[in-house]
Amino acid sequence: MKITAIRETMVPLAAPMRNADIAFDAMTASAVAVVTDRIVDGRPLMGLGFDSIGRYGHGGLLRERFIPRLLAARPEDYAAAAGDAIDPLRAWAVMMRNEKAGGHGERAGAVGVLDAALWDLAAKAEGKPLWRVLADRFNGGRAPARVPTYASGGHYREGADEARAIAAELSAYRALGYTQFKIKVGGAALDRDKARIEAALAVAGGGGALAVDGNGAADRAAAFALLGALAPYGLRWFEEPCDPLDYALLAEISAAGFLPLATGENVFSAADTRNLLRYGGLKPARDRLQMDISLTYGVPEYLRIVALLEEAGWPRTRLVPHAGHLFSFHVVAGLGLGSHEAAPDGRLLFGGYPEGVAVEDGHVTPWDAPGTGFERKENLNRVFAPLLD
Ligand SMILES: [Mg+2]
Repeated sequence: MKITAIRETMVPLAAPMRNADIAFDAMTASAVAVVTDRIVDGRPLMGLGFDSIGRYGHGGLLRERFIPRLLAARPEDYAAAAGDAIDPLRAWAVMMRNEKAGGHGERAGAVGVLDAALWDLAAKAEGKPLWRVLADRFNGGRAPARVPTYASGGHYREGADEARAIAAELSAYRALGYTQFKIKVGGAALDRDKARIEAALAVAGGGGALAVDGNGAADRAAAFALLGALAPYGLRWFEEPCDPLDYALLAEISAAGFLPLATGENVFSAADTRNLLRYGGLKPARDRLQMDISLTYGVPEYLRIVALLEEAGWPRTRLVPHAGHLFSFHVVAGLGLGSHEAAPDGRLLFGGYPEGVAVEDGHVTPWDAPGTGFERKENLNRVFAPLLD
């Protein structure tokens, strides 16, 4: 199978919300289509990829480096061992030619969105859902019958009666079938945050069903003040309590033992993960790790991260990847990870599930359609449509 073209477009995500660190009204994402010379039902077989959330589109890097490398490669450089197919692991090695060790950051997301498209392609070539392909290849064929998911929301919005708005938002998620929730904190005065948390707890039913996310905005004093004030709520976890790369401060917060911690969405490689493990003071029995699959170069690097974590005593159930979109759902299901983060609002490009997929009692049953399923989510399908001709 030969890659004949790779098409790319950048779309606005334009969501009127913010966390303690950034606003999302100018956020963008890249959508890519990898086109091949294999014809199925009269059309070229294609793989689709959509960026993870929160790092903007990757068009420049894609056009300058990673798309040209794939297009210039010989088909035998990325061919699967069997059948007329592409092996995403071999294609990944092609993309990373002449990339120096340690130069992570934005390039990790550019490679990650192409990697997502290559896995979609591989699954479609086999006629299987992506989770099944990943489970067979990397998890001994095991895949859960139902995947735990949680509703991520509770952003700061302008002009609302915040406590009431949070309660209404989480009630809507509960009506959709969610039983676990996460809201933003640290972007307002403590009194406001406490009122928001108490409104959320009234819907969630208790601290064990509610996590909070500080988005790495707090300095040392603010982090200790906030965690100290929130510890009595017994929350499920406190996410990114301080600068995500300040491992010494994280270790100090961890040792203070306020609440279970979660972090990792701003770690972009296995090497960075190793540093987090060495110096961040996190505990596998208490905490969770949230490396974002598509922002850490996609599945090949994420597998290295999982191997490293398992070696350090972290069970896969403690891994809850950042960014709730369909691709990460398949990886959570296929690798048997702890939980899928979902933005429940299907009107968002990165929110919700494909048509006909429902959340039941906080779980989603993996679906059987081949590939990732971007085409089966109406608003995403409209984004991809211009790339398919
Ligand atoms: Mg977060």
